Amino acid sequence: MSRLIIVSNRVADLEAQVQSGGLAVALGDALRTVGGIWFGWDGKLVEGGEPAAVSKNENGAVTTATIPMTERDYEEYYLGFANKVLWPVCHYRLDLVHFEPGYFEGYKRVNCNFATALAPLLAPNDVVWAHDYHLISFASELRALGAKQRLGFFLHIPFPPPELLQAIPTHEWLVEALFQFDVIGFQTENDVSNFHRFIENHADGEILDDDRVRAYGRTVIARAFPIGIDVDEFANAAQTPEADSQIERLNRRTVVRSHIIGVDRLDYTKGLPERFKAFRKFLEMHPEHWKAVTLMQIAPPTRIEVEAYANIREELEGLSGAINGEFGDFDWTPLRYVHRAMPRDTLAALFRGSEVGLVTPLRDGMNLVAKEYVAAQDEEDPGVLVLSKFAGAAEELEEALIVNPYDIDDMANAMQTALRMPLEERVERHSALISRIRTHDVAFWRKSFLKVLAEGAPEVVA
Ligand code: ADP
Repeated sequence: MSRLIIVSNRVADLEAQVQSGGLAVALGDALRTVGGIWFGWDGKLVEGGEPAAVSKNENGAVTTATIPMTERDYEEYYLGFANKVLWPVCHYRLDLVHFEPGYFEGYKRVNCNFATALAPLLAPNDVVWAHDYHLISFASELRALGAKQRLGFFLHIPFPPPELLQAIPTHEWLVEALFQFDVIGFQTENDVSNFHRFIENHADGEILDDDRVRAYGRTVIARAFPIGIDVDEFANAAQTPEADSQIERLNRRTVVRSHIIGVDRLDYTKGLPERFKAFRKFLEMHPEHWKAVTLMQIAPPTRIEVEAYANIREELEGLSGAINGEFGDFDWTPLRYVHRAMPRDTLAALFRGSEVGLVTPLRDGMNLVAKEYVAAQDEEDPGVLVLSKFAGAAEELEEALIVNPYDIDDMANAMQTALRMPLEERVERHSALISRIRTHDVAFWRKSFLKVLAEGAPEVVA
């Protein structure tokens, strides 16, 4: 029997299940089933010098193994190459790309440090599953140390069209390194097709069939595994007595009859300024909703050291102030903008208590909030999901109201359509959405990926 080794930039706190997301729980469950290791950065920064020692924490069949990184690693690999180069390029934002000479070397170095620290912990039958854009060259570093294990990679963010990928000076090196994995998972068919285009047109490679590609002397599996959520966990969190009382508080002492909600990390990919402008447009077009509707936007800051994130924050504060100044009254705040994270069960309650969920990223790998909003609704009286056509989730969730997030009028109209939608249509759309989300949940995602990864390797039953 094989052990499962999960590798990600940060290691989730497997004991804090209540607050952690579905992904951490799903991967934690898989580890508990087959036994294994979750390896990654411990979140600590240290002075340079000696190679960092691995800290291990054993809990039954599951070990977390972590290493710190240096300030320089953090600057060059994490803030630099990962978040000022790969993140904007993969989200189609070449205007926000920022290169510095040390970034790429830092990225290679940290991938190498991760591989060097993990290699001694690996057994020959282990199956290794690395996550996300921080670890593109991880397999190549591990192979250089002699690793023969099955190595899988899942990219949680979009894979960009080749025309954009080519803006990264070292893009060829990165794609070649990626081929040291045996299985490469993407969120959507669109990502797979972008990847295929690069392989065929720029890597002298070949698409062998729907699942397999050949390039750089290697044949690997590359296909879409759309990620899901733990539907019951989220649905149950929305139905507790505490959730009822939170919804009651949401509605108490207010003239507002309908709630629109948005929940996102404060990221320039999420389309927040466009969403605020669309809400302003909606209010301009529909004075009948004044004092009757409110938009609650929950957006905790992330990556505050990156300039583009400080800029978006400033822009949103300006927009929300202007909207509230123009339309608000002593008894009505049209836009409630909360700049902090909330417990997951509070989010579930707020989703359930909101007639409309706005998920309008300019580009998103999948977007789990879209699925969480659907999971939290009352089946007999569900709210309406307004979803960007540029979220990976739109490939599956076609019964949502699909909008173009660049088109302010389209979004303003969708808010009106959602608020006016008859019960029968809401129920019909919701039941189609929830059944798809239930079938393709996070356990299905994990099992599908691990089944493919384990083919040719000893049994992994997680
Ligand atoms: P991303 O991974 O880009 O942040 P996703 O929508 O795929 O986007 O996942 C975001 C996750 O973080 C979801 O599970 C969501 O519930 C959670 N989340 C987002 N905003 C908040 C918040 N303000 N408080 C708590 N959790 C949040």
